Amino acid sequence: MEKVIIALDQGTTSSRSVLYDSRLHKIDQAQREFTQYFPQPGWVEHDAGEIWESQWGTLRELMERNGVKAEAVAALGITNQRETVVAWDKFTGKPLAPAIVWQDRRTAAFCRALQRKGAEAGVRRKTGLVLDPYFSGSKMHWLLKHNPDVRKAAAEKRLAFGTIDSWLIWKLTGGNRHVTEVGNASRTLLMDLKTLAWDKSLLKLFGVPAGTLPQILPSDADFGEAVVPGLEGVRIHGVAGDQQASLFGHRCFKAGSLKNTYGTGCFLLRNAGAAYAAPRKGLLGTVAWTLKGKTTYAHEGAVMIGGAVVQFLRDGLKILDRAEDSEAMAAALPDNEGVYFVPAFAGLGTPHWDPNARGLIIGLTRGTTRAHLARAALESIAFQSLDLCHAFGGAIKSLNVDGGASANRLLMQFQADITGTEVRVNDSPEVTALGVAMLAALGCGLVASQQDLLKLDLRLHIFKPAMAAARRKLLVDRWHKAVKRSLAWAE
Ligand code: ADP
Repeated sequence: MEKVIIALDQGTTSSRSVLYDSRLHKIDQAQREFTQYFPQPGWVEHDAGEIWESQWGTLRELMERNGVKAEAVAALGITNQRETVVAWDKFTGKPLAPAIVWQDRRTAAFCRALQRKGAEAGVRRKTGLVLDPYFSGSKMHWLLKHNPDVRKAAAEKRLAFGTIDSWLIWKLTGGNRHVTEVGNASRTLLMDLKTLAWDKSLLKLFGVPAGTLPQILPSDADFGEAVVPGLEGVRIHGVAGDQQASLFGHRCFKAGSLKNTYGTGCFLLRNAGAAYAAPRKGLLGTVAWTLKGKTTYAHEGAVMIGGAVVQFLRDGLKILDRAEDSEAMAAALPDNEGVYFVPAFAGLGTPHWDPNARGLIIGLTRGTTRAHLARAALESIAFQSLDLCHAFGGAIKSLNVDGGASANRLLMQFQADITGTEVRVNDSPEVTALGVAMLAALGCGLVASQQDLLKLDLRLHIFKPAMAAARRKLLVDRWHKAVKRSLAWAE
């Protein structure tokens, strides 16, 4: 019987399951969107139960449609939205609170207070991160402080905290494993990048009891055996956060190789090699993966709102029916005609790290139409990605990209124009799923080495820059002028 690999790709806006044959060619996929909750300005929540149901639904659908039985599955891989925190009861397995999503800003004041206490330099040295609400630690602190159910469960030693990888593994293994993958753990503000273990002083700083946290495992570990119907006995063998999985999927195995992903947010990661070196200002240091006992680090620039600005046009302003319609709408104009959109809905990440920045649209005139908003929104994704490239210093020769919004040709051409570099779009937008399928294939021994993965043929579509330097400068200067006005707005 030919063996297959199934990758579970639990993203910020949808859950996907992707089926691969033993040579890692994609056979089929199933996908479901799930609900985004915005209960207060700056808050973003998910229902952990719905996340599981949507993920489980796509998995069943995929297996049924393709007649896949458990015996044929060599391994499961899991890739997931990072930093989002789930709190659940170890005995009942029930979530105790809404999941706090990575974009959520509710802990901005707490992070600011820690900065005022002078905690930032030490935290950054140990974790590679900054004191920003983005990461999981302050979200756990918030749940313990503000949610009586979570507090009570902690007191009664029933509380389990986890990022989405932990939650899915817990559900798949029927509560047998409370574990997390090392790259995911490196996004919590609680793990020391050098020891790859939870750090006592960081746990104290965030008030998180050690017993509530999962055990940290390497990316290619045996994460446990599924017990859910139809998958009994299948082992979970590769786990990575979505951005790490994408870096792996692009086969950025060498130090210096990099990729940018256009999903809900945009994330530029560069392989930083086996010895941890502190990243440049504004960038993050993180674990890329631990494979065969060896850890690879990465440096990262993060944009909080990328493709999500298009979702805002669709669901918030309702000026689009489908995300892909943004392309034709924006293409109706020769350029942005002076309209700029800074989508700082969730503050700004690299290079500003300002949780109190807020969104703005500027340059409106009596002639402004929906087309201007669509154009300015798409351009904002490219401008923010340009700022990520700048944060890395040195010239970037070409940009490997993927993610839902990379299907937008106008955006990709504008990205090439505004950065003055070639943009290489992976033909398959599921590089994230492919990356974790590769990890799982290595983990279970279906593929012998990373070297073998380099032989996989990935098709690319290349966009070449065509904008004059003077024009580029004019547009970028105006973008930065707009960004300045969005900073510190909610302070
Ligand atoms: P995630 O994994 O973060 O959920 P995906 O990689 O699935 O994200 O990408 C989804 C995002 O891409 C959504 O925010 C959506 O608005 C955006 N998107 C999808 N298709 C397009 C398109 N053709 N043009 C612009 N944005 C798009």
